[in-house]
This record gives sequence, structure tokens and C-alpha cells, in this order.
Amino acid sequence: MTSGARAEIVVDLAAIRHNVRRLREIVGSAVSTGSTTEDGSTTKMMTVVKADGYGHGVHEVARAAREAGADWLGVATIDEAVAVRDGGDSGPVLCWLTVPGEDWDAAITRGIDVSAYSLAELAEIETAARHLATTARVQLKIDTGLSRGGCLPQDWPALTAEARAAESRGHVRITGLWSHLACSDEPEHHANDAQERVFREALDVAERAGLRPEVRHLANSAAAVLRPSAHFDLVRCGIASYGLDPAPGVTRDLGLVPAMTVRARFSMVKRVTAGSSVSYGHTWTASADTTMGLVPIGYAEGLPRLASNKIDAWYDDHRRPVRGIICMDQFMVDLGDDHAEPGDRVEVFGTGHDGAPTAQDWAEAAGTINYEIVTRLGGRLRRIHVDSEGSGA
Ligand SMILES: *Cc1c(COP(=O)(O)O)cnc(C)c1O
Repeated sequence: MTSGARAEIVVDLAAIRHNVRRLREIVGSAVSTGSTTEDGSTTKMMTVVKADGYGHGVHEVARAAREAGADWLGVATIDEAVAVRDGGDSGPVLCWLTVPGEDWDAAITRGIDVSAYSLAELAEIETAARHLATTARVQLKIDTGLSRGGCLPQDWPALTAEARAAESRGHVRITGLWSHLACSDEPEHHANDAQERVFREALDVAERAGLRPEVRHLANSAAAVLRPSAHFDLVRCGIASYGLDPAPGVTRDLGLVPAMTVRARFSMVKRVTAGSSVSYGHTWTASADTTMGLVPIGYAEGLPRLASNKIDAWYDDHRRPVRGIICMDQFMVDLGDDHAEPGDRVEVFGTGHDGAPTAQDWAEAAGTINYEIVTRLGGRLRRIHVDSEGSGA
């Protein structure tokens, strides 16, 4: 009988480091095809560690990413950026999602770059920095067509002009200009060209306003691997850093390794007879006698109930179909006529070794994206970090 936790998330930090290095290679490889930045420097790497490192653990991921050469870390909220600092990270960090009256002091005093989408936001940041008698690091975001956050192009001349004026008053430094793509996982989508064009025009406007940012950036993971023209000074890689494919069905093999494995131990193994129906609603009925294993993880841990009857788990080197509805705490897998013992280890998803199921498989079974699978995991799962290279961490 295997020992170990009832159910756990295992995050391999060597995989994170490998992926960050691999992404730096992929992005760097664009250099030879002419996408160095204007001053000839290579593209910098931001590893996005929002949402607790996409469910992988923000502190551990931040450390591994820096070890592998991440120049920047990116998060959504100030709280997340503060957590990164509290975890001991002292490098460049950008956050980009705030509300009026935000705790700007927390970010400014820690040297965290904040984003401004509007004149009102810029004014709040400047006021906070003036009261602190310091200079805030601010990146301006333009909405180039995602129609989500960011300054509309018609308001951009006023925002950049005011930002320059604020710089000359001394409490704001514009460190970056950036935007975000809507369709980067569909490289042929016309929105990509359109957004890139708007972004270049916005950079010109900012330049004419006198802004001289450290970084200009547009690309997330998919654009980092698929669209060299969108690299500018920095790419913001989230999902690919965790080893998941940012554009399934589009990318060639990127050589990334999924960092997260979810595994459990069978609570029970039982023989069910032909005609027995399994789990709530009796949505699956055994056509022959078969052996079933009870896996003690459910939708409370973040597994999608929509994957019921459509996905496999992995036991003893074979895929094992999930039978019946995935419940709050548990689900059943079909082991056929194979022998298993309670306490034996079963893998829910992981690296995809030997054809084992992946987060991508679970996403497809549930009609969603791999991002949602890994970021929603939690509940009663224990999370541990390992290092398959046996160093670092
Ligand atoms: C989450 C996020 C990213 C990372 O996107 P991936 O597709 O995971 O690489 C980049 N930029 C912004 C603004 C984001 O919100």
C-alpha cells in the first residue's frame, strides 16, 4: 500500500524553472528574425504569478521564476503584489487591477509598479506619492481593442500629457506603457494586427508627449510564443510558465512541462455487478461486472463536475474512465478487471507522462480552458512543492 496524503497537489518547481527558461529561449530566438527592440536589447520576461501563481503557490513560483531568469513578476492586485514582496522578492513587480481609493501607499512604499488607466487614477497615485514624499512607479495602460481595462485611444493623448506633467512635478515616474490582446491564441485573427497597430500609434503619442518608459509590452503567453512582432521590450507569460499550452491546437510542441500534478489515494475499491448504476442520478450503468476505485476529491476541490463521464484518471500505468457524476467530495473510476487496493495512488492529472491525463484534457472534457482547471483547484487538497532536479527550491 502506498503511503502519502489522501489527496494533494504536487507542484514541481524544476518544471517552473524549465518553462521560464524555455520561454526565454523561445522569445529570445525571435532576436535572429529581427525582433530585437529598437535599442538592440533582448526581450525581457515577466512571469505572471497572479491568482496564487495560477494555483501553484505564489511564493514558490516567484522564487523559481526568478531563479530561471524572470526579469519581472506580474500580478493583478496590489494585495498580490504586497504578498510577493512579503515573500522576500525585491525585483520589479507590476500590478494592474485596482479600484478608486486603493491602498496606493502599500504599493508605492514597496517599489511596486502600479497601472493607471485614467486621469483620476493617475491623480490618486500622484497624491499618495506626494504625501509619502516619494516617486511612484506607474505604467499606463491603453485599451487597444480588448474593451476591458485601460485608457480608450481617444483619451490617451490627455492621459499621456498629464502623466508627463506629473513626472515633471516629481512624484510620478512613467515606467511602462502597455496593453493586452483579445485573440492572441488565434494568431490569424484580424484583431491581433489591429491591436498591434493601435498600440504602436499609442507609443508614438506617448513619445511625442515626452514619456520615456523602461518597458513597453503587449504580449501574454500565446503572443510570446506565436507573435514576435508583439514582443516589444517585455512579454508577460502566465499559463505557459506553468507548462500548459497557451493556444491548444495552434502551437507546435513548445517543450513545456506541466508543473502541477493532482493525485490521491483510493478510499475504497469495490467490485460492482453488471447493471449497477454509479453515483448521483445513476448516469452510468455497468454493462459487465467491474472493479471501481473511489477517489476522494470532488468539485469542492475545484474539479469540474461537467467532466463527469468524459474524462479519465490514471492508475497503474493506464487511463481509467471516470464513471458517473463527480460529486462534491469524491468520484469513481473504472478499473475493469484489474486489481487495486484501498490506499493505492491514483493520478487525476499531471505532466501527461505516458499518455496520462492532463489539465488540458480535463479542460476539454469540461468545455473550458486549462487556466480555469489549475486556478480553481484548492478546497481540501494539500499542496506540496517538490524539485525534480533536487536543487533550487
Ligand atoms: C493574466 C494576464 C497575463 C498572462 O496571460 P497568460 O495567457 O496566462 O500568459 C498577461 N497580462 C495580463 C494583463 C493578464 O491579466
